[in-house]
Amino acid sequence: MTPEQKLRSLPSIDTLLRRDGIQRFIAQEGRDSVRDRLREALDAMRAELRQEVPAQITTRVTNTEELAVEIEQRLVNSFAQRQQALTQRVINATGVVLHTNLGRAPLSQAAIQAITKAASGYCNLEYDLTTGARGKRGSGVEAMLRDLLGSEAVAVVNNCAAAVYLTLNTLAEGGEVLVSRGELIEIGGSFRLPDVIAKSGARIREIGTTNRTRLSDFAEAINENTKIILRSHPSNYRIIGFTERPSLAELTRLARERNIPLFEDLGSGALLNLSAIGIHDEPTVQHSLQAGVPLLAFSGDKLLGGPQAGIILGQKELIERIKRNPMMRAFRVDKLIFSALEATLAAYANGNARLALPALAALHATKDEIARRARRFLRRVRNNNLKLQLLEGNSVVGGGSAPDAALPTKLISVTSASLSATEVEERLRQAVPPIIARIEEDKLLLDLRTVSRTEEKELVGALEQLK
Ligand SMILES: *Cc1c(COP(=O)(O)O)cnc(C)c1O
Repeated sequence: MTPEQKLRSLPSIDTLLRRDGIQRFIAQEGRDSVRDRLREALDAMRAELRQEVPAQITTRVTNTEELAVEIEQRLVNSFAQRQQALTQRVINATGVVLHTNLGRAPLSQAAIQAITKAASGYCNLEYDLTTGARGKRGSGVEAMLRDLLGSEAVAVVNNCAAAVYLTLNTLAEGGEVLVSRGELIEIGGSFRLPDVIAKSGARIREIGTTNRTRLSDFAEAINENTKIILRSHPSNYRIIGFTERPSLAELTRLARERNIPLFEDLGSGALLNLSAIGIHDEPTVQHSLQAGVPLLAFSGDKLLGGPQAGIILGQKELIERIKRNPMMRAFRVDKLIFSALEATLAAYANGNARLALPALAALHATKDEIARRARRFLRRVRNNNLKLQLLEGNSVVGGGSAPDAALPTKLISVTSASLSATEVEERLRQAVPPIIARIEEDKLLLDLRTVSRTEEKELVGALEQLK
């Protein structure tokens, strides 16, 4: 068949709409939507046959029926692609605990229940049940954080980037922000501290050098335009060797003496000391508060193990000013986040965080525990086409936290007799639910550290399908 003959043999939209394979989509997506997509598919095919665009169409196609089959297949692919773009649960078998692409910290059962309850009707988001009058959004979380950490006041916003922006915009607009050259960080590409400072309307005054900044550098730089001293936690990189920076206590003292607010961007926001599991350089929120830092911010979905949020803690007077910023409304969080955050903080209040919060539980899993699970897992998978082996390796904290922490783990390497590592990776990614694995040196690797017990069964099922 020549391209011209194929052009003339293309089936009509009405013929296509009558096909069983396409009727199925009409029930799901509605006739109009299917008709639009068929029209797009036919237009694309005509363009290919006229050689206006590179041809996707196979040369094997020799009659109208085969053309119809090809169009139907394109429709299936296009609906499948749209389905895949929808937010859905996936199984994280990468061993990266706070995987930013996979939604960072998974929520605890209690947080999930709290969200479900808050979402299932009305709730007291801004209503005071004691007085029957208008209440304050977030007063529950504020009380919990005050009890838990002894901080004076709290503001909750959408994420830590918003917390940094809002704080600087409120306290430093039109003036200078002092920040060490060693702390002008970029987190994950879109959060660059210098850009956020510029957008806040403040000017950066860079202090010291990349590797060494002294307290005296700060003291000498303070002038009548200085509005705030910014300390940031370089969560995702390390400066090692000939380095120096003032201690938090020293910087706090200087700021207090000169009557300038000190603001610490902590990022990860660990409430538990994690040095026992090899995460040494993650300062806790309590450490900063004890050092006297008057204002600090951290993420809700990193080491805290809760929902996406930015939590600003500190002196009442400073927090009140931040809350009065008109942009506060643009960054405020909704009832679902507050309920999840309250349930997350309750786990800390109960002393239960390490077990109840999935991210913390995953970080604390020992190599022996993971090895035991992995050995049992190997025995469960029945597929002669696969070879599964245990390998030594490391999991990763992720989320820009503790880049140099190695969490020893036992990896499962999957080798197929008929599929390459990338083919196995793709097949697992297309499974329901999708399974995200990693490939290293041409080996497909699974790390059970980030796979829950209930997900293990689904993982076994997906591996058994790999024929
Ligand atoms: C992660 C991080 C941020 C950004 O936090 P988001 O909650 O992702 O907006 C800002 N500062 C530091 C130091 C961080 O580690």
